[in-house]
Amino acid sequence: MKDIAQKIISELKIQIEKSEKPLIITHYNPDGDAIGSMLALFHYLVKKGKQPFMVSPNDYPEFLHWMPGNDKVTVYKRNTGTVLNALNAADLIFIVDFNDPERTEGLEKYLKEAKGKKVMIDHHPDPSDFADLVISDTKYSSTAEMIFHIIESMDDESLMDQDIAECIYCGIMTDTGSFNYNSSNPYTYSVVSKLIGLGINKDRIYWNVYDNFSIDRMRLLGYCLYNKMEVFPEYRTAFISLTKKDIKEFNFSPGDTEGFVNYPLSIKGIRFTAIFIENDKNIKISFRSKGNFAVNKIAEDHFNGGGHLNAAGGYSFSSFEETLKKFRDLLPQYKTELNYDF
Ligand code: 5GP
Ligand code: MN
Repeated sequence: MKDIAQKIISELKIQIEKSEKPLIITHYNPDGDAIGSMLALFHYLVKKGKQPFMVSPNDYPEFLHWMPGNDKVTVYKRNTGTVLNALNAADLIFIVDFNDPERTEGLEKYLKEAKGKKVMIDHHPDPSDFADLVISDTKYSSTAEMIFHIIESMDDESLMDQDIAECIYCGIMTDTGSFNYNSSNPYTYSVVSKLIGLGINKDRIYWNVYDNFSIDRMRLLGYCLYNKMEVFPEYRTAFISLTKKDIKEFNFSPGDTEGFVNYPLSIKGIRFTAIFIENDKNIKISFRSKGNFAVNKIAEDHFNGGGHLNAAGGYSFSSFEETLKKFRDLLPQYKTELNYDF
């Protein structure tokens, strides 16, 4: 494991010590790694005698609410004034699990203008140049794993407790799809081993996150797979698409479609999947792949987005049907790549 440069760790130590008003912010539509990393860092900073303010740009699914400290997160969409005041007042701003202010979807201007020193902790490729201190490395399974490594590198492993461990484990588990992808680095398992040693109940964490479907959500999944999935065996691709009307029928709540994009990857031979979800403003798209087919490139080149090699996302501002057509029409140009052995 490549260590974070000692110079950066020393600088971070100084900044944390000096800080009177730290703030932690994560990305829009936060996932388990975003919330887990933010909360783990929060608990650590509390142990260092700080009182960090935590911001999520919008609401997030109920299956992430069980993490210790969740009640202390302020949602910008519902508390704009409070969050903007906190951002103005903050002297140290941690940017966790994202690499570009655009990913806050509404806070970018305020984040760029904020006076506090900015520390980015993230594992996405190509960090944009807006933080004062950048801790960015794609080699980590998750930002949560980086938080562990940072605490360790600050010689504060003794401050790690069960609360911190649960939040970090949730981040690692969700960003690796339960150790399915992004999880071939032995370091990840040395971290997990220490987390288990701290007394976490890893099975319960799994149940809290994954075995938490409402009946409507389970039926929506069935509907997606039975009625709304298109499969293109010649391109080893499958996608699911949901209109606003579909979503309404199943009493949709945030997070209900989380993970659905992965299901078609279980079809023999399929290595590229997408899900298109229509909302009032645009169509949100998620991409997943197996092996070396770069979905972040697809998201960047065609759908105003980005992400990781095997998990990325973006948007379309065209009509629903035009968007699906655009996707179907793209496939032939990737035929060779999609059919490489992997
Ligand atoms: P998800 O499909 O779960 O929403 O996102 C998977 C990954 O894709 C995220 O971790 C993030 O890296 C990336 N991602 C999703 N949506 C966007 C987007 O609109 N823009 C960018 N740059 N990345 C995205
Ligand atoms: Mn992440």
